[in-house]
Amino acid sequence: MNPFERKILIEELRNEIVWDLLIIGGGATGLGIAVDAASRGFKTLLVEQDDFAKGTSSRSTKLVHGGVRYLGQGNISLVKEALKERGLLLKNAPHLTKNESIIIPCYSWLKVFFYATGLKFYDWLSGGLTLGKSKVISKKELISRLPTLEKKSLKSGVLYHDGTFDDARLALNLAQTCVENGGVALNYCKVVSLIKSGDDKIRGANVLDKESGELYEIKSKVVVNATGVFVDDIIKMDNARSKSLIRPSQGIHLVLDSSFLQSMDSIMIPHTDDGRVLFAIPWYDKVLIGTTDTPLNNHSPEPRALESEIEFVLNTAGKYLSKKPAKKDVLSVFAGLRPLAATADNNKKTKEISRSHKVIISESGLVSVIGGKWTTYRKMAEDTLSAIMKRKMLPAKKCITADLKIHGYTPVNTTGALSFYGADKNKLEALIDSNQLYAEPLNKETGILAGQVVWAVRNEMARTVEDVLARRTRLLFTDAGLAFKVAPKVAEIMMHELNRDEVWKQNQTRGFIELAKGYILNDNLDSITSPK
Ligand SMILES: Cc1cc2nc3c(=O)[nH]c(=O)nc-3n(C[C@H](O)[C@H](O)[C@H](O)COP(=O)(O)OP(=O)(O)OC[C@H]3O[C@@H](n4cnc5c(N)ncnc54)[C@H](O)[C@@H]3O)c2cc1C
Repeated sequence: MNPFERKILIEELRNEIVWDLLIIGGGATGLGIAVDAASRGFKTLLVEQDDFAKGTSSRSTKLVHGGVRYLGQGNISLVKEALKERGLLLKNAPHLTKNESIIIPCYSWLKVFFYATGLKFYDWLSGGLTLGKSKVISKKELISRLPTLEKKSLKSGVLYHDGTFDDARLALNLAQTCVENGGVALNYCKVVSLIKSGDDKIRGANVLDKESGELYEIKSKVVVNATGVFVDDIIKMDNARSKSLIRPSQGIHLVLDSSFLQSMDSIMIPHTDDGRVLFAIPWYDKVLIGTTDTPLNNHSPEPRALESEIEFVLNTAGKYLSKKPAKKDVLSVFAGLRPLAATADNNKKTKEISRSHKVIISESGLVSVIGGKWTTYRKMAEDTLSAIMKRKMLPAKKCITADLKIHGYTPVNTTGALSFYGADKNKLEALIDSNQLYAEPLNKETGILAGQVVWAVRNEMARTVEDVLARRTRLLFTDAGLAFKVAPKVAEIMMHELNRDEVWKQNQTRGFIELAKGYILNDNLDSITSPK
């Protein structure tokens, strides 16, 4: 088995072999397919142009959920499927997931009845994979569980269960699971063109190693396009005249100090002023509030929150919280793009477009996967492999992912600041103990240790300061100002670990600081960036 080391894995691209599957895109969709394919015994290669989960897959609401609001849209089969997947994910990756109590505060008795009934149905749909029964809670219990909730006209609340998770860490652990099952997963490798044979069938792709600048000609029986909002770019490499399949919809989140919630329970507001759903979720030691649903006509790897979206989230949160959040309280803002399937009806609101997924196989054999959500990534992968095998593009082999433990799995969940490393926690602690410098925090304000940076480089394929601060640890998402401050220290440690020079260090620090500014609200930039 290969170690999860880029230097070793990239050598596999030099082999003159024909892969069974080449998967383009290292987000939830591509990584799920890579794990499924590798664990079925297929020769699997996944390439990601940036870092694993750099795209939408690190920018979700962090819910492993059936989707209560899809019930309201009558999409029962989607909810049922997602509830099953929710159960499987909590079972197979307990180190990254948590059973979360979510409370809907109700300001009328009619609403109490409405949500209590709907959530009983939600419970029932989850069958044997239930996370606990929903219930109506008294106003007294509600206030004791959610002390910062706006109490005026409050009647009661309905509590139900869903999961929460760390999306970027799950993506990383899926990449590791793929490699442990004999596959290859590489970050910073971009598909620049597709390779076709004389009969116009796709036979592989040209892959650029963005670190070395080397170009590899990769031959593969099947090429899977799992590039989220970039899916049309790859489809156009196959057929320049194809119609767009994706309509991106942006969602943003604001991260606040935990004092705004003061609870381990989450709040769900099912109907905001414009009919959206808003969550306030305790995540790490902060509160995550979102999201929005704003149709866009373009896509980028670093989408930016619109001023109107920030106002909307702050105003709506302020209606339900006694401590009203203002711009100065925002520790981080991040935006993500939903790869929603385009519909013939362009006037359809994005929140009404189905979140279910589609597998499309072009005449030349390009397999594109569109739509879906993080929670259902495993089922999306299984459906993709089924479609490939149905077309006899690969021989039939059994799917084993329903019971496959994801890298880091521990039968007994560990606790504490390093618990999200799961089974790796002991090895990380041994590394930290091996050198007293590794036990030092990056600065006085953060609990992240120098040893975690070393670990990320040696064992988690972190190549840049951003990889460490955005996705191996989540500091950019939980406190962008703090991430800004520790970036030079991270660059220093990485320079030594990766054997780079001072120029690399300076470029990395500068690049990260520019990026971090996009996660800090303009109003707060001066106070964070000016030297004290
Ligand atoms: C605001 C928001 C909140 C959400 N909340 C939830 C939630 O709480 N729960 C849930 O279940 N789902 C949620 N979702 C949905 C979920 O996050 C997405 O469905 C999922 O992350 C999409 O994954 P993906 O792999 O398809 O796309 P991405 O994560 O975007 O991955 C595609 C990857 O392809 C790469 N790529 C593109 N072109 C190339 C190329 N030429 N070569 C190599 N690589 C390439 C990109 O760099 C990118 O990393 C949310 C989505 C949004 C936007």
